[in-house]
Amino acid sequence: MESQSLYQLFQPLDTLKGIGPKLKSRLKYLVGNYVIDLLWHLPNGLIDRSYNPNIAKAEIGRVATIKCIVKKHSPSIRRNLPYKVICYDDTGEITLIWFNSRKDYLEELLPVDREIIISGTIEEYKNSKQIIHPDYVIDSNKNSQLPEIEATYALTQGLTNKVVRNNIQKIINYLPKIDEWHDQLFLKERNWPSLNDALIDVHNPKNDIDLTSKNPSKERLIYDELLAHQISLYLISNDMYYQKGLSIKSNFNLINRFIDNLPFKLTNSQLTCINQITDDMESSNRMLRLLQGDVGSGKTLVALISILNCVNDGKQAALMVPTALLANQHYESFNELISEQNFKIDLLTGKTSKADKELIYKNISNGKTNIIIGTHALFQEDVNFDNLGFVAIDEQHKFGVHQRLLLTSKNEKLPPDVLLMTATPIPRTLELTTYGSMSVSKITEKPKGRQNIVTAAKPITKIKETIKSLKKTIDNNNQVYWVCPLIEESEKIDLAAAEKRYESLQKYYPDNVLLVHGRMKPEEREIIMEEFKSGKKKILVSTTVIEVGIDIPEATVMIIEHSERFGLSQLHQLRGRVGRGINQSSCLLLYQTPLGENAKKRINTLRETNDGFIIAEKDLLLRGSGEVLGTRQSGFHIFKIANLNENKDLLEIANKNAKKIVDNNLLLENNNYKQMLKLFSKDESLKYLDAG
Ligand code: ADP
Ligand code: MG
Repeated sequence: MESQSLYQLFQPLDTLKGIGPKLKSRLKYLVGNYVIDLLWHLPNGLIDRSYNPNIAKAEIGRVATIKCIVKKHSPSIRRNLPYKVICYDDTGEITLIWFNSRKDYLEELLPVDREIIISGTIEEYKNSKQIIHPDYVIDSNKNSQLPEIEATYALTQGLTNKVVRNNIQKIINYLPKIDEWHDQLFLKERNWPSLNDALIDVHNPKNDIDLTSKNPSKERLIYDELLAHQISLYLISNDMYYQKGLSIKSNFNLINRFIDNLPFKLTNSQLTCINQITDDMESSNRMLRLLQGDVGSGKTLVALISILNCVNDGKQAALMVPTALLANQHYESFNELISEQNFKIDLLTGKTSKADKELIYKNISNGKTNIIIGTHALFQEDVNFDNLGFVAIDEQHKFGVHQRLLLTSKNEKLPPDVLLMTATPIPRTLELTTYGSMSVSKITEKPKGRQNIVTAAKPITKIKETIKSLKKTIDNNNQVYWVCPLIEESEKIDLAAAEKRYESLQKYYPDNVLLVHGRMKPEEREIIMEEFKSGKKKILVSTTVIEVGIDIPEATVMIIEHSERFGLSQLHQLRGRVGRGINQSSCLLLYQTPLGENAKKRINTLRETNDGFIIAEKDLLLRGSGEVLGTRQSGFHIFKIANLNENKDLLEIANKNAKKIVDNNLLLENNNYKQMLKLFSKDESLKYLDAG
């Protein structure tokens, strides 16, 4: 990374010297794919190495830096036993311990009689002192110095603090000077350093306060992140709101006829939402509306009716969903539901064959296709609509801001109306930071006759009887989801746990179990999901990949292992995979004892209520706002540095200034702001818009 260009920051991690495929995949699991993601991985603590006792005085449990002499090596006699090196000073002896380390390496590092300096946590074993895997071993004659204070970072399996820190330092050392986007006066007022200095500072904390937003350097980074985010939101809503939109004539005859022909009655909530949407569509302002509703509350149907309303007025409509499987599911159900109306529906996903694609592109551009359902594939350059009037985006948080903009700018004449849909209920307090000033429709009722899911909790020791109890479900021709532990630190362990469970279930139910996990390619995953959907096999073991919108009415049992590790909203989402048909469904939360206070509260909340909004509010109380939007894994993590609970004041300032910047067109005048957006935007697609 010797170039003077910021371009390097947006390259994959393995473009850094010394990062090979193995390290890259570990770092990727921890921070993300790109060099910049590692730079934003800020320290979460520090180690003070200024404590320099002699061996006798060294306190157990403290990090100590000790000068001593190597006495002798005592290599391990068997694998699994540690390699020991005994050292001494005038006051006593200390043992250094290594597991799985090479003899020749340790002999070279620690020649007998050599004076060395070691640093690490002092432990006690059978009345003598030891350090397991010292953080540092250096030759006291050489001039290498130990840092007195050292940042520590959140880690995952297979990573050491040293590796993470060294690589971050490497990035900082080669960082070109970044042009300032803030006013000098403003910086002075706030007592904030330049971005370069701020980065150096936050990665080299000197005390605990330096780790918090009381540190001006950290405060600046938080502010920049909030500002970038608020600017993006303003850009989006400006782009959407201040435009004239299409006016789509509502046809209530058609809508009512369609509703009357449904095998069920719409809920009042659904009817209200449909009215709000058709009103918006009819207005000559552009529609940008969020449809919130719990899993299974019938959002898709509301979207379908809006789509119908649009195509009936002679314009095209699109539905975008996050996976090909979901696209397929909607394609089939739409075809079934509106078979009478004679509208042409097309399906466009990454799996669509090249020949089919050509034809579909053609039909979209000449207007033959009325309704198009698809995934990201809808964004391809080659997709040109004849007359796009309405776009519904399901599980909208899975898509980046840029992607949304791309699709919605497809109609060059007037922009289409947009309906965003989400099953993650968001407490009012968070609406603003998440969606700006979007109008919101909420489905607050469940369809009639839908039974609540009976939720129970049991300790993991009851696993045998749990497995046996599935027989009844299977004999009734119903299906089971079995979700395996979520262990955030390691994808590998996640997988091992799921595989183990898969095998133990296979023993009881041979040829009746499927396994799906995050390490599979999306195509592989979809094949398995299809097989499960077909009903041929009754049990699906998975890591948490089944979260998004799968609709299988025959699935009536959800088992979640290590439920104590999941967040409340996530548990609720998982539970929502069952209870979609007429049969009574149940959810069993298996947990590991002892159960922590918060975990107990989460599990009790789930047993008490099926209402997603109540659950979201509870979640906010239990976890604080920063996390309610989900874990990083779920792709719904908005800030890397800022914390909405602690940084409300900065958010206010950022909000005001973002408005000023956007309204006064400063983005056009000041190229450095664009740099800031690129550096701080969580939105990958925006970030790489014109990197380099
Ligand atoms: P969501 O998208 O909110 O998760 P869906 O629209 O997929 O929910 O609806 C889930 C299931 O419930 C679908 O099979 C759908 O046909 C059905 N459904 C939708 N609205 C109603 C209703 N009012 N009464 C009964 N069933 C309904
Ligand atoms: Mg849905």
